Amino acid sequence: MKETKSRHTLHQIAPHSYWLSPDGTTDRPVLGAIAGQQATLLVDAGASPNHAQTMRHETAVHHLPAPAYLALTHWHWDHIFGTAVFPIPTFAHTETRRRMVDYSRLDWSDDALDRRVAAGEELAFCRDMIKLELPDRRQLVIRAPDISFTHGVEVDLGGLTVQITHVGGDHAHDSSVIYVPEDKILFLGDSLYFDIYAPEARYTTARLFPLLDQLLQFDADYYLAGHHTEPITRAELEAEAALLRNIGEIVEQHGRSSPQAIHPAVQTITGQPLTEDHQEYIAAFLAGLPA
Ligand SMILES: [Zn+2]
Repeated sequence: MKETKSRHTLHQIAPHSYWLSPDGTTDRPVLGAIAGQQATLLVDAGASPNHAQTMRHETAVHHLPAPAYLALTHWHWDHIFGTAVFPIPTFAHTETRRRMVDYSRLDWSDDALDRRVAAGEELAFCRDMIKLELPDRRQLVIRAPDISFTHGVEVDLGGLTVQITHVGGDHAHDSSVIYVPEDKILFLGDSLYFDIYAPEARYTTARLFPLLDQLLQFDADYYLAGHHTEPITRAELEAEAALLRNIGEIVEQHGRSSPQAIHPAVQTITGQPLTEDHQEYIAAFLAGLPA
């Protein structure tokens, strides 16, 4: 593993799989690079052309084959604003593509962003991060994907196959994951996270539980989540999935009739005072209860 002076580090996690560390200061997510004998496939294009250039630079420094394909995990700005830096065939779910075409037609000036936040069409948090990450957006080009799919697609990189699969979930209904079977690595994008565009951060058992099942069906040793600073092991994901299921079921059982019973019930399962994560999960499942 080679350290660089950039604010990011490209880590090799398996023979063909690399990930660029995220940076919370402007909400830059994890980016991925999967290197076959002939070609490299990139996972997500980053929060800006600068972020994308960093990834391109890192793949060159590490002597990976030139990036030949790009796969996008979902439509959120921080994963797609760098697309124009990579004029290469780009894969995304049909919904990701539709959202990006809409985005490419929007006015991204400060005034327009402020208006969209005031109208409830954009989150203040995203607006602030966009302004910080990319202060001058006059040259911003959002290049829509070339190849869209509804269920999934496989890409051959030369002695190495990559599977891109739509999984959905609460965070973004178009969420897709990128699997490297030979490396047992799964890039999760933001699929595991809450729905942040809902009035309150929200998890629904109807969307999250099938997603957890689907993610655990991939035979992976490590999972890379979009804004996690460290890879997640299989054991950690299994434990997290069990916790989310338990909390989701408890909230569903007591949420309407006896919300005061939720905290003691969760505490019985965890065997410890509730952490901030537990509280957040409870609040998210409460917000996601069917109306
Ligand atoms: Zn996202």
